[in-house]
Amino acid sequence: MLTSFTRCTLKLLAAATLFTACDPAQPTATNVASAAPEPLVDSAAVLPSDTVTAASPVQETALAPQAINLAADAAAILARPEVPILCYHQIRDWTATDSELAKTYIVPEERFREQIKMLADSGYHTVSPDELMAYLTTGAYLPEKPIMLTFDDTNLTQYEVAAPELEKYGFKGVFFVMTVSLGRPRYMSSAQVRELADRGHTIGSHTWDHHNVKNYEGQDWVTQVEKPKKKLEEIVGQPVTYFAYPFGLWNPQAIPELKSRGTTAAFQLAAAQDRQEPLHSIRRIIASGYWSPASLHRNMAGSFNKN
Ligand SMILES: [Zn+2]
Repeated sequence: MLTSFTRCTLKLLAAATLFTACDPAQPTATNVASAAPEPLVDSAAVLPSDTVTAASPVQETALAPQAINLAADAAAILARPEVPILCYHQIRDWTATDSELAKTYIVPEERFREQIKMLADSGYHTVSPDELMAYLTTGAYLPEKPIMLTFDDTNLTQYEVAAPELEKYGFKGVFFVMTVSLGRPRYMSSAQVRELADRGHTIGSHTWDHHNVKNYEGQDWVTQVEKPKKKLEEIVGQPVTYFAYPFGLWNPQAIPELKSRGTTAAFQLAAAQDRQEPLHSIRRIIASGYWSPASLHRNMAGSFNKN
């Protein structure tokens, strides 16, 4: 069944493909919603004050909770080495009806296990959005070989397959949830999202139903940003301040709208960051279903820290 939503999604996909095609290391597909339309963490953005006092200079970089400075200078943020961030969607074996394009964002289970094992064997350590923000805005400590693993669109396979696999290695993920899908077949329930948060993963917003942020006006900001954020906060019992753009698409006009609604960072795909608002245009790459562990590693090296 090709619903009007799906037709809209396909059009956007085509646009998104063009949008990212200039980056040779970026797979051609981007974020896709399936027939059902498909929604981050204000966690204490500000830290216990003792972490920023001058009293105990040395150890706290590694041991204390880390402060986030939302007033940090954009140039200073952009000057820091990028942390590689991967974006996953469905983790399941391919079927006969999956298109060639779809296979870039559907990662077969065994391939996913190989990719995650490669990251662990290579010495990577997952970081949370809070840790990333502390690093970007203050230069706070990150573990060696940091990486962030993100999961968009609320697919049930993320709960059933991805989270347990990450946990084998002590990894934590970031799950960007679109609230319209909660409880639908093949999508996570509210209870499962809460469980992921309780297990130490981060929950972010991916809008209500995955419409392109570039087209929002008026009430759309309430429907797609304000209400989903509130609903997710009710579900997880924590502030939700991180946001992932549907299809990875954004424009500079969207950023003040997100900021005024309590979003402290927003994640796109592989386009260049906004020079004035780097925290609201943080780059990710889609970890393709076609990529062997070695391909994934090559693409990480090719996409991040190119400057
Ligand atoms: Zn999406």
